[in-house]
Amino acid sequence: MNFDQLAEMLFPNVTETPEDLERRYPPRNLPEGAKVTRFAPSPTGFVHFGGLFPSTIGERLAHQSGGVFYLRIEDTDAKREVEGAAEGLIRTLAHYGIHFDEGAILGADGKICDQGAYGPYRQSERAEIYHVYAKQLVKAGKAYPVFTTQEELDALNAVDKKAEIKSKNWQEDSGNRAEEQQKQREITIEEVAENLRAGNPFVLRILADGDPEKKIPFTDLIKGTLEIPENDEDFVLLKSDGIPTYHFAHAVDDHLMGTTHVVRGEEWLPSLAKHLMLFRYLRFKLPKYLHIAQIMRLDENGNKKKLSKRDMGANMDDYSRMGYAPACVCEYIMTLLNSNYEEWHAQNPEKPYTEFPFNIKKMSNSGCLFDFNKLNDVSKNVISKMTAEEVTSQVTEWALQFDPAFGALLQNDPAYAQTIFAIGRGGKKPRKDLATWADAKGYMGFFFDELFRIEDQIDATFEKTDIRKALEEFLATYDPADEMQVWFDKIKAITDKLGYASDMKAYKADPAAFRGNVADVSMFLRVAVTGKQNAPDLYTVMQILGEGRVRARIQKMIDSL
Ligand code: GLU
Repeated sequence: MNFDQLAEMLFPNVTETPEDLERRYPPRNLPEGAKVTRFAPSPTGFVHFGGLFPSTIGERLAHQSGGVFYLRIEDTDAKREVEGAAEGLIRTLAHYGIHFDEGAILGADGKICDQGAYGPYRQSERAEIYHVYAKQLVKAGKAYPVFTTQEELDALNAVDKKAEIKSKNWQEDSGNRAEEQQKQREITIEEVAENLRAGNPFVLRILADGDPEKKIPFTDLIKGTLEIPENDEDFVLLKSDGIPTYHFAHAVDDHLMGTTHVVRGEEWLPSLAKHLMLFRYLRFKLPKYLHIAQIMRLDENGNKKKLSKRDMGANMDDYSRMGYAPACVCEYIMTLLNSNYEEWHAQNPEKPYTEFPFNIKKMSNSGCLFDFNKLNDVSKNVISKMTAEEVTSQVTEWALQFDPAFGALLQNDPAYAQTIFAIGRGGKKPRKDLATWADAKGYMGFFFDELFRIEDQIDATFEKTDIRKALEEFLATYDPADEMQVWFDKIKAITDKLGYASDMKAYKADPAAFRGNVADVSMFLRVAVTGKQNAPDLYTVMQILGEGRVRARIQKMIDSL
């Protein structure tokens, strides 16, 4: 077989050479040790938690090393593409602080466009580039065409959209495969010419030289040292429409775009032998690989399951609706990514996570466990350190979108909202009431008459007359101008008058001697004023509510008894 002639017949319009492309996309001029990473999603839907995870790794590795992080859109499967998914993906990632230095970006018109010298960054626009390397492989006798008639192809496609890759069944049936593969490899130049004349489509297959009995030693930066059986499958490089398969596009793109570290899901590990073969055939330098394990979750029975697309917590857009602040989600991801993150954070509470020395070696190779409880804990910590102003503005923004009536209340008097959110903030031990912005309404809704209601009842063991007396006495002596100590001394005086104990020590020594204690009296007041048994500091609450509201609520409680 004359391979030069075959290459010309298959790719008559390809005039460029790999050398031309190498010149057009020269190695990047970056400092020693700088990593070039990418996120390479297929635009087939929303951003999954399992997508934010690797993109955070890629982003950290690149930006921590003074390198480049870019976005490549892998849109070679038009049938699976979802309109607007790529644009949505860029927006969602930006919401979580994932910014790309280069690649597909959102233009001013809200549409995708390219930024950077290594594009195009959408695979659907790179057909000519792939064909240059395809032609080279044919010339080197390392790839060959397999023809079908258009009718055959249509019939196969009607059954299964991936049919052409599986065509003639040999991939499925390894018994026949070697034989079928051998037959197809023996196509003659005359047969090729005849098929081309008839206008028959072809797929381009690699000519595999591997022996699965032999193993290639391979080091994955997460999985460690592996033994990969060599590839003997003549897998498809170009589909019949000239579009590359993932394998071929991966090799060409990551080479030309200068990727140093490929971060991707472990579902690609079984294909690695194919990629090693391609990089070898094409004489490309192999990048480093990080194959990351699937994220797990616990099911109702406490068993570990893969976090699937349909699971709660999978779709990143849900987090916005649930009111998780991006900063909290990012912080949580860091705790999942590196086992020593929390320790570092405890030692450096003021530093942003971007200053954490992220280390590949500290990553789990068996899959992290996604857990809402942990996310909520992390989130409460993060929010407890925000300023009241920041919390007010974020809660308001969230509420205006997802709970407009509440949003309107907050927006109506931002200074009032901010005073409320300032309660217990600052100090060494800030309050940790909010895990999400959606928690805000339950926490501080009682500050608004529109939302105030009695949620917790006063324990039925207390005499109604005691409660009424306590509330009436409070109203009789209440003066909003009182300092906290004076205010509390008045409550203590009421307590003693009722036959309750104002001295907790005395109460604990002999509870039977009293009808109750000062904490109970405070609780009567708290329920009357906030509708809850648990609320922030009551003195502060009353100060913020103001005399009118305090008196009206206490009176209402008295009337209801
Ligand atoms: N488009 C591939 C995917 O979404 C990318 C894998 C990779 O990062 O190489 O799985």
